[in-house]
Amino acid sequence: MTPVRAIEADVCIVGAGIVGLAYAFEARARRLSVAVLERSGEAVGASVRNFGHVIVSAMADGTPLECALAARERWLELGRRAGLEVVEAGTVITARADDELAVMAEIAEDTARGGRLITPREVDRLAPIPTAGLVGGLHARLDLRVDPRRAVAALAALLSRDPGAHVLFNAPVQAVYTGAVESSVGQVRASLVIVCPGPDHDWLEPEITPRRTGMTRCKLQMLRVRAPAGRRYLPALLTALSLPRYPGYSERAGSKQLGDRLAAERPELSEAGVHLIITQLPDGDLLLGDSHQYGDTVSPFGEERLDELVLTEAAGLLGANKLSVRQRWHGVYPSAPGHPFLIARPLPGVAVVEIVSGIGMTTALGLAPATFDALLGSSPAVAVS
Ligand SMILES: Cc1cc2nc3c(=O)[nH]c(=O)nc-3n(C[C@H](O)[C@H](O)[C@H](O)COP(=O)(O)OP(=O)(O)OC[C@H]3O[C@@H](n4cnc5c(N)ncnc54)[C@H](O)[C@@H]3O)c2cc1C
Repeated sequence: MTPVRAIEADVCIVGAGIVGLAYAFEARARRLSVAVLERSGEAVGASVRNFGHVIVSAMADGTPLECALAARERWLELGRRAGLEVVEAGTVITARADDELAVMAEIAEDTARGGRLITPREVDRLAPIPTAGLVGGLHARLDLRVDPRRAVAALAALLSRDPGAHVLFNAPVQAVYTGAVESSVGQVRASLVIVCPGPDHDWLEPEITPRRTGMTRCKLQMLRVRAPAGRRYLPALLTALSLPRYPGYSERAGSKQLGDRLAAERPELSEAGVHLIITQLPDGDLLLGDSHQYGDTVSPFGEERLDELVLTEAAGLLGANKLSVRQRWHGVYPSAPGHPFLIARPLPGVAVVEIVSGIGMTTALGLAPATFDALLGSSPAVAVS
């Protein structure tokens, strides 16, 4: 590859996933010039492999919820500018038992999350799923969804139309220093370098690689299926299996007991970290997932058993005999206990940002504005708790 001439920018971003793009837009909001370097011909990491679900209602109190609420506004604004549809239909979470509805009632009481308890009849009005056996549900009205296969590409295209931004694809970065990065397309000099590598940070020098006790990677198996009878589902769909998984839902008085019951009744699901999320793509196909497998090395092999568990749950929720699978893939995100945002300043003028939980689509566009000014400063750590 022929190296380009050396580029100078105020800020250099490594990685054009949602986190890198969020910081790039933030740099431009401060009138700083920016260069984004992405190693692939287009972003193909977690940011395109997910559900496109901006699940504000499920965020932990404090910074994650604040970031999600800010990100929600940013998605709407950037979506308009980028010609990207941002669907404001919320999430419907179905309840089949009173203890599930009781946890949902507690979530609904926390008005910042935009949740409202709904009857089975209202579930039916919001989404064409069978209501036999349902006792009600939660409509989390603030949640959004975007097409994850278009979203980051549309945002990158919007950014690249800005004369103050360079967005370079096929530009793997090999080394990061104070004041510069070396990439296959040449050197970029910048007074602030923000590295947003997703789970693949092993190419960084050990002293730059972000670390936290218990840090590992999480692999999720995903499927794309045809919608039964070509039905349209505007809201994202979840079941009570998700209530113990997200802190914004699980930090409720009845959640622990509910989680114990679900784990006792469905050990095969809780052992595989399976819960059900369904979102619809613009062409009508449904994204289904997911399972959670943890480890430093991600196996390239999918496990059919996990896909079968998700397909069975989804067929049950949608009232379908069998779902026709069109695609299977897995996605990976870095995972660590504790706070979901890992922001390090390993060298002067160099920051590394990783979202160490599966919430980047929900929070990145709010995390960047909340932390950008601190990255411009000289503090070695950026408090985000
Ligand atoms: C299957 C799945 C489903 C999910 N569902 C949701 C959801 O519905 N809602 C939600 O909020 N979150 C969800 N998440 C989490 C969310 O997708 C992630 O938190 C988010 O995408 C992380 O963004 P990122 O930019 O850090 O990482 P990535 O999207 O992985 O981007 C990192 C980028 O850095 C590039 N890069 C790495 N090294 C280099 C280098 N040396 N040089 C140049 N470029 C480099 C990579 O090529 C990549 O494009 C899901 C995650 C997965 C895996």
